Amino acid sequence: MLHTFLFRERLLLALLICMQIDLLAQSPATEQPCLFDALNPPATLRAAETRISAAVAQIKSSNSTENSDDIRVIPVVVHVIHNGGSENITKAQIERQIEILNEDFGKIPGTPGDGAGVDTRVRFCLAKTDPQGRCTDGIVRLKTPLTTHQPVDRASLKNLSFWDNTRYLNMYVVKTISNGVGGYSSFPYAPPEEDGLVVRHNLFGDSGTAAAAGGRTATHEIGHWLGLYHTFNGGCGQDTCSDGDYVCDTPPVVNPNFTCNLNVNSCGNDTPDLPDQVRNYMDYTPDDCKSVFTQGQKDRITATLDTVRTSIWTPGNVVATGCDSTYMEPSVCPVVADFVTLTPQVCLEGMVYFVDRSLNLATSWQWFFPGGMPATSTLQNPTVAYDTLGTFSVTLIATNANDSDTLFLENYIQVTEPGIGQPLPFSANFDDGIFPPTGAEIYNPDLGIHWELDSLASHSPPYAARIDNLVNVNYGTRDEIVLPFLNLSSSNPDSSLSLIFWWAYARSDPNYSDELIVQISKDCGVNYTNILTKSGNALVTGPTQTTPFIPTAAQWRKATVNLFQYRTEEYVKIRFVNVTDGGNRLYLDDIQIDGGLVTDIKEPMHSRLPLRLFPNPASNYVQVLTRDGWNEPVHVCIFDGLGRLLRDYGFTLANTLDLTGLANGLLIVKVESSGYAAGFRLIKND
Ligand SMILES: [Zn+2]
Repeated sequence: MLHTFLFRERLLLALLICMQIDLLAQSPATEQPCLFDALNPPATLRAAETRISAAVAQIKSSNSTENSDDIRVIPVVVHVIHNGGSENITKAQIERQIEILNEDFGKIPGTPGDGAGVDTRVRFCLAKTDPQGRCTDGIVRLKTPLTTHQPVDRASLKNLSFWDNTRYLNMYVVKTISNGVGGYSSFPYAPPEEDGLVVRHNLFGDSGTAAAAGGRTATHEIGHWLGLYHTFNGGCGQDTCSDGDYVCDTPPVVNPNFTCNLNVNSCGNDTPDLPDQVRNYMDYTPDDCKSVFTQGQKDRITATLDTVRTSIWTPGNVVATGCDSTYMEPSVCPVVADFVTLTPQVCLEGMVYFVDRSLNLATSWQWFFPGGMPATSTLQNPTVAYDTLGTFSVTLIATNANDSDTLFLENYIQVTEPGIGQPLPFSANFDDGIFPPTGAEIYNPDLGIHWELDSLASHSPPYAARIDNLVNVNYGTRDEIVLPFLNLSSSNPDSSLSLIFWWAYARSDPNYSDELIVQISKDCGVNYTNILTKSGNALVTGPTQTTPFIPTAAQWRKATVNLFQYRTEEYVKIRFVNVTDGGNRLYLDDIQIDGGLVTDIKEPMHSRLPLRLFPNPASNYVQVLTRDGWNEPVHVCIFDGLGRLLRDYGFTLANTLDLTGLANGLLIVKVESSGYAAGFRLIKND
């Protein structure tokens, strides 16, 4: 009973933008409900709903059909995210998906989309011209392990490849999505960097690797992208028009339907009392059951296009993307060299992973990496080490059978000095009431539920850190406590070195668990390695409960993570990550790193310039602290995050820099002294 209740509760909370579940591989009894997409927190949805509802009302009151029934063409770009397997689907399979979208949204006679609904007047076109006006087939192919997709990583996907979403609908094809999800979409008014939809390759179209599918996952997800909810959102609700899916002519539905039972009637509060509309694209029925968008849904789609997505279908954009009927397609598009890395800023000795995203089927690649190791490469996706400070350009020449193209990105890679972290011991027991602890940060990407101070339970009173997963509905969202940069080499090299902390956790449902991940970075926070992962029974310390979990003294557990292999690292970052699944509260307390202190330093432990900046973040003044005995003058310059010189303080023995007048944000402080050079990241925050 409890589980059933929570299942309903989740669907209600999960209002929409679900990820359609895998209807092929799992039986309904074990299926996850539609996962709530962290892109669309409830506040965002309410804001979007107000504006869409107003536009729908306007459409109905104006009662004009003059322009509203024109065909509107949406240019599409398909980013195929693959790792060399069958998920690198063919152009023919992609073109079939576009055809299916047009059959479904156009209710084309003689196709499976010709059901008892309406023609939405929306059509889709694989773009023929890219954002820079170059010839393309509308397909970008990227080879990367991110094809094994977790929704929490969607920003990485979109950072790899994204075309202006006011001009193109971005569709991503991946190998898998975690938890067997088939696809998901953003909702109107999502931020640009989250806009678009992600679909599993074997549900994309109805041919090739998707031969067992009907191609309706994309139809459903684009429905969300155009402002439609599930027919079952809100359950039976109070009113068939003003709640639920906010569409009058879709009868209320209490729960998703997984079978094509035309007689099911799950809600009796509509007049007349109509059966569930299992053929609607926005239910969860199998692909071959679906064939309907209603007039009310069409009105919402039109309203979305008239209020949010206003530029994408304009005649000017349709022409500019090569999607007008008069476009003369060349027989072959020339190759276009293009590449990207997710980490253009690295520490000294950092590794940069370059991803080729050249257009029009390049077959060979010639790379040039001045300042890097190797300095050249012919791999498609090379990894390059940088062991010199500075900014470096990258060149790619991409070639296919017909021609070649060159892309030169000047000063694309920035290599900075790691600096030296805060010395050990480190401890955070939260008991001074300062949160986050001095030098630490919290990361709260959805600006929602986050790590905070808690005084109701602690391992050592009065305070602990806590995150309340019980009320967090942005499933899959990560929230972090990030410790300051630490110098682990300040421990005694002959002693053990461990991270110790205490935690407490309970679930709200035996089927769901939040996750605690502890990660370490030794390259300035660019790449992280998991050093501890706990979920399910390994994380639980208290009984499953649907009320807020407040641990007793006996419900705390101690974790010890051996850091011995990092004992020579001078600049590491450790973070505690909560990945929410709507479980219950997770607590942390008494975080400690202590490896036995170095008491007798006879020689400098490294060849780098021995100094640090304090405080960091700083307001109007920052101190340059040199190690005892360093009497050389230092030459200090400050740059902005783009490498532009802001201040040159010249050579100085004074150790306090005046930051007055500089804008808040990231500053790069470069220091030279006696042949040494070092760069530091300084956050100005006043
Ligand atoms: Zn959905």
